[in-house]
Amino acid sequence: MPYATTNPVTGQVEASFEDHTAAEVDERLALAASTFEVWRRTSFEERSRYMVTAAELLEGELPVTAELLTREMGKTFAAAKGEVAKCAMTMRYYAEHGHAILSDEVISSPATRSGVRYDPLGPVLAVMPWNFPLWQVVRFAAPALMAGNVGVLKHASNVPQAAMYLESLFRRAGFPEGCFVNLLIPGSRVADVIKDDRIAAVTITGSEVAGRSVASTAGSVLKKCVLELGGSDPFIVAASADLDACVPFAVTGRVQNNGQSCIAAKRFIVVEERADEFIERFSAAMSEVVVGDPMEPATIVGPLVSANQRDEVAGQVADALAKGARATAGGSAIDGPGFYYQPTVLTGVTDEMRAGTEEIFGPVAVVYRVADLDAAIELANSTPWGLGSSVWATDETEQARAIELLDAGMVFVNAMVASTPELPFGGIKHSGYGRELASLGMREFTNPKTFYVA
Ligand code: NAP
Repeated sequence: MPYATTNPVTGQVEASFEDHTAAEVDERLALAASTFEVWRRTSFEERSRYMVTAAELLEGELPVTAELLTREMGKTFAAAKGEVAKCAMTMRYYAEHGHAILSDEVISSPATRSGVRYDPLGPVLAVMPWNFPLWQVVRFAAPALMAGNVGVLKHASNVPQAAMYLESLFRRAGFPEGCFVNLLIPGSRVADVIKDDRIAAVTITGSEVAGRSVASTAGSVLKKCVLELGGSDPFIVAASADLDACVPFAVTGRVQNNGQSCIAAKRFIVVEERADEFIERFSAAMSEVVVGDPMEPATIVGPLVSANQRDEVAGQVADALAKGARATAGGSAIDGPGFYYQPTVLTGVTDEMRAGTEEIFGPVAVVYRVADLDAAIELANSTPWGLGSSVWATDETEQARAIELLDAGMVFVNAMVASTPELPFGGIKHSGYGRELASLGMREFTNPKTFYVA
């Protein structure tokens, strides 16, 4: 698919861009490789100065940049403003803490002096998705650039202007040319870039299919790879849950980003004694969610990213309803030029239905009833994924049990799953491997080099 901005509100193509030719890609990789030799020798203080300038520019350009995100992929303007602000905050975080996170570890041994230092790897290819067009890239780039790597971005084909904006932002902030380069290439050309000797490592955020392809290519050339893939996160309502606190987050957890978030709550697993009340209150709240133009301040849910995505969600729900599931809220697409879908709650879903086994990337919640917390944890763990999980319980024994036994990269208690620069982010099983953010994420693209001075 060629690079184009298609506004999900109108379905109109607003801009399109030619893919880079092989010669242009070669030129950009050469620039990235030569800049790395300069950048790795640049002090943390200097790197920090550019990163803070990038954050300042981003903050100064916040409304215009946020509107661009809304036009390219349909998230609400309010959510887009939040995304831009979070990117600036994260840049500042790594500008301030990056040096300490990567400072040498001194380890006592028979040596006079020994330990570990964290050296950059080189140009890192980042294959990124459209759902958080700025945040997904910045959460990779801020720590990776501060560590002394250079970034090579292959963004999703429907957010070309977000990709070009980021390249321009880093350049205008003072980063040397080649420190962050953007490649406009289709997924089918990613393998060639991974195999290029000038690329040191690769990270991908996206679907399982794309993740398998990237990981197998990286494996074939023995390059480091981080995978941030899909999920079907559980949202467990335990016997001791405070429903007044939990129901609003159940709604936000499912409909955030128009339902298109990897860490959205997707399977609501409720113990029998709280199920009737939860389903009634949750369904009522989902029915009241305002769907509409993402630029309108009252809108909570805008359009899905594309007609294909809306039809995919519609197909998953129609399949469930045809096989005996029940919609206690919503249940169909909304007519119009935009790609809108009603916030929906499904009950009675089984594994014979697509909604029971597939990730739903839209504002559709599946609610399950289970006997008790152990059964909830068993059901939560029964999928191939293991990204985030949210547990609602006021009882500390229930909280501790869920934190210990859930098979997921992240367990949030009495909160919806979210990312923040201080804490590691990532999953297990088919949700991927490796971590982003925090010290674990920052060290992914470093060489933990042992030093020993006799
Ligand atoms: P996608 O189709 O996998 O696209 C992601 C990126 O991979 C795009 O840049 C895409 O390029 C590229 N790509 C596609 N096929 C490829 C291939 N065979 N080889 C190399 N690159 C390839 O995913 P999406 O639809 O944009 O995003 C939705 C998925 O991402 C969901 O499953 C969601 O859960 C997951 N996600 C995970 C996280 C996380 O942190 N774990 C965060 C956000 C989203 P083109 O656009 O050119 O095809």
